[in-house]
Amino acid sequence: MMKGSLKSAMEEIASAIKANKDYLTDLDREIGDADHGINMARGFDAVMAKLNSAEPADLSSGLRQVALTLISTVGGASGPLYGTAFLRAGKTVRQGDMLNPKLALSMFRAAVDGVEERGKAEEGDKTMVDALEPAYRAFEDTLKSGGDFPECLEAARDAAKKGVEYTKTIPAKKGRASYLGERSIGHQDPGATSVWIILNALLQYAQ
Ligand code: ADP
Ligand code: MG
Ligand code: MG
Repeated sequence: MMKGSLKSAMEEIASAIKANKDYLTDLDREIGDADHGINMARGFDAVMAKLNSAEPADLSSGLRQVALTLISTVGGASGPLYGTAFLRAGKTVRQGDMLNPKLALSMFRAAVDGVEERGKAEEGDKTMVDALEPAYRAFEDTLKSGGDFPECLEAARDAAKKGVEYTKTIPAKKGRASYLGERSIGHQDPGATSVWIILNALLQYAQ
């Protein structure tokens, strides 16, 4: 990913989030407070406004800009978590680095670690971590067996989808949905779903 194409990647994500705004909000209505799609759409609109107003100098500072914008505009539980993910991913990039699958793997790991440190959730808590962790493992496995960038992202996207399905079968242990306890079983986690949507958007971008 070169200078300028962070914007294309974020455009792909922003438009996917907007297209799924009502879907994400409806999922959050069942086990939360019906704002996940609204929060995410507001955040990614702000990200695009920021990237359109000034081209970031490089990938690292661009990702930092994305992160700070998400932190200040998404709100809720997911804003600081996604913000931390992009911030940590950006910190993994050294000045002048070009995006390649190996760097993307380290960025992905740093992002997932950031979410887990910030939110204290682990797999099985019915959160975005249930999509992120299997997606990371699938990316890593595909890279190790010689997959190219789109193949890694496709495997990650598909693993995230399985994680999303898994969230339907378990009670929430973190976030608002945890207030419902066992009654959250049968409902799909909105944050895991937005992770899957974002990975699918990145795949569209990379293909
Ligand atoms: P809020 O719950 O504050 O309204 P959102 O609706 O935007 O925030 O986001 C809800 C999503 O955030 C949940 O579906 C879940 O995936 C994620 N989430 C909530 N708490 C945590 C946490 N501690 N760790 C990881 N993800 C979390
Ligand atoms: Mg909510
Ligand atoms: Mg809320």
